[in-house]
Amino acid sequence: MPHPYLDGLNPEQRLAVEHGIGTTAAAPALLVIAGAGSGKTNTLAHRVAHLLVDGADPRRLLLMTFSRRAASEMGLRVERIVRKAMGAQAGVISDALTWAGTFHGIGARLLREHADQLGLDPAFTIHDREDSADLINLVRHELGLSKTESRFPTKGTCLSIYSRCVNAETALEQVLGGSFPWCAGWAAELKQLFAAYVEAKQQHCVLDYDDLLLYWAQAMADPGFAADVASRFDHVLVDEYQDTNRLQSSILLALKPSGTGLTVVGDDAQSIYSFRAASVRNILDFPGQFSPRATVVTLDRNYRSTQAILSAANGVIDLAKERFTKNLWTDRATGSAPHLVGVRDETDQARYIVERVLDNREAGSLLKQQAVLFRTSSHSGPLEIELTRRNIPFVKFGGLKFLDAAHIKDLLALLRFVQNPRDRVAGFRLMQIIEGVGPASAQRVLDHIAAAADPIAALAEAPAPPRAAADWRDLVTALQDLHRSAGWPAELERARLWYEPHLDRIHEDAVTRRADLIQLEQIAGGYPSRERFLTELTLDPPDATSDQAGVPTLDEDYLILSTIHSAKGQEWKSVYVLNVVDGCMPSDLGTGTSAELEEERRLLYVAMTRAKDDLHLVVPQRFFTHGQNAQGDRHVYASRSRFIPDRLLGLFERVSWPRVSAAAAAAQRQGPRLDIGARMRGMWR
Ligand code: ATP
Ligand code: MG
Repeated sequence: MPHPYLDGLNPEQRLAVEHGIGTTAAAPALLVIAGAGSGKTNTLAHRVAHLLVDGADPRRLLLMTFSRRAASEMGLRVERIVRKAMGAQAGVISDALTWAGTFHGIGARLLREHADQLGLDPAFTIHDREDSADLINLVRHELGLSKTESRFPTKGTCLSIYSRCVNAETALEQVLGGSFPWCAGWAAELKQLFAAYVEAKQQHCVLDYDDLLLYWAQAMADPGFAADVASRFDHVLVDEYQDTNRLQSSILLALKPSGTGLTVVGDDAQSIYSFRAASVRNILDFPGQFSPRATVVTLDRNYRSTQAILSAANGVIDLAKERFTKNLWTDRATGSAPHLVGVRDETDQARYIVERVLDNREAGSLLKQQAVLFRTSSHSGPLEIELTRRNIPFVKFGGLKFLDAAHIKDLLALLRFVQNPRDRVAGFRLMQIIEGVGPASAQRVLDHIAAAADPIAALAEAPAPPRAAADWRDLVTALQDLHRSAGWPAELERARLWYEPHLDRIHEDAVTRRADLIQLEQIAGGYPSRERFLTELTLDPPDATSDQAGVPTLDEDYLILSTIHSAKGQEWKSVYVLNVVDGCMPSDLGTGTSAELEEERRLLYVAMTRAKDDLHLVVPQRFFTHGQNAQGDRHVYASRSRFIPDRLLGLFERVSWPRVSAAAAAAQRQGPRLDIGARMRGMWR
């Protein structure tokens, strides 16, 4: 049957889109493995649309992407295609795709819906990384481990080790030996700590990020549960499969043991999440996990970038040790070579970028069509200053989150505590907002209510901490009001009224922070319930903007700033990459093993392949390190990244900026001068 809405696809893409649809025989699992910009995500969207046009029930499709944003973009894309196919009959597809989200978000929903069956309290709250580290810290103190010796790993390191063991399904000793050798002497204490941490989470009725996958995977090991969950979904589709870990692949296998109805797409050359235990083996081993083996489709045409950009990106990734996907071609022959720009320091780097961004805007590019990418969030500091000075709005992805701000966390602690009064980290934070309540009093109260059947009622009866009587009563009243709930999202106003006097006392810049709280209320309006709001915000919080808070209104134009990790899957007309120097790319922290170095190379490849028309790699001669190495914060002299060795230079246009050196500019101001010496030297260059 002809399907005009699929006409724009190339034959390989079409093969993937139509795989197993309209046939009665069971089709094997499908893997689309191909390089950047070859249309993997686009193919996935067409496949979903084609399934829907073929009569699939959108509520029975499970679609997992790398971020919530990617999921909603996919929903909109699918909707456009279905409309093209079916016209007005289509209805609002993106709303009907109820199971589109991240692995973690989907895990949270399934665990809540099946909580009874799993012996979980459905009111569980979710800890973000900071809360998890705080809980580890609490437990560490209780065990006396922080006192044993000052060199015991920090709470953050403990959490990273724990997380690695869980996600890679690997024994502690092996993780220590492989990735944290300086902690190897603490194996026994860490075991004790992790056992107590797991126990504490259960008592407090909280799950951390890793638990969302771990509980889900463990539950799927039970055949009855697995059958229940699997029967909810006819099709399971996953984007960016190269960045999944073993737990995630075991979940997929349990959902679709025969592989029928399972589609995954990805690019091994873009695998950049090994620090979250993602393993490129997942995508390489995928075909052999099923019998019959999965159908593998490869795509080799790039639709995103000009040939010049693609050649440079291919040049970089060609030097990788191991690679499965092949080089791509494009028919976009036009366009200039990517610029490799030498600048003096990060200030000049910022100025160069601002100048180019404004040039491009002048030439008709929106700010939104341009993005500045960097290895680490702190690298964009000087650029942010310059952008602010020049009044250029920007949004930053992958850096400080809106929710990381202390005042937002305070207010959310109140909501979390109402949702789940056993969440001790939330309770601890909440109580200590009150003047005169320290850790010891907070702990006493939390101990008192821990065993109560109705903790909020128990709190009202608990003796008030002696130095905070009036404020304490206010808190208890607020909690009781919220517990009875004024309705969602109206209750947020009640929460804010309680918090504002404390905000004014704690923060000097209370006025701007109050504005954030109002904005939080607006964001809350987009969620159906307190529980969904807390869950989804914790799992995928909005990013901070040029005002350090909030999400900009959609009609505004703004420049994109993003870590390379957060830029996955996206594309812009112009892309600028900061600090393409050794020490940043590869990062000093990523040169320990050859596997780490290879991942840094892939990171540069990911950055370069985000560009459609215009790419600038900036190489400052000096840059500032932020305590990444033993010497702490300091300026260092840098050289061009080793990922662009001399033999690749022909693929770039080399630019030195500013074009005129400061000395020459000064000389020009003084009027023409004959520099015979320079001419003589120039004769021999
Ligand atoms: P990445 O590896 O970076 O995630 P990808 O393989 O998922 O990239 P897409 O983002 O799906 O690639 O597509 C890249 C660009 O190419 C998009 O702008 C998309 O609309 C366009 N594109 C994909 N397939 C086609 C096609 N058959 N015809 C025209 N344009 C296409
Ligand atoms: Mg993609």
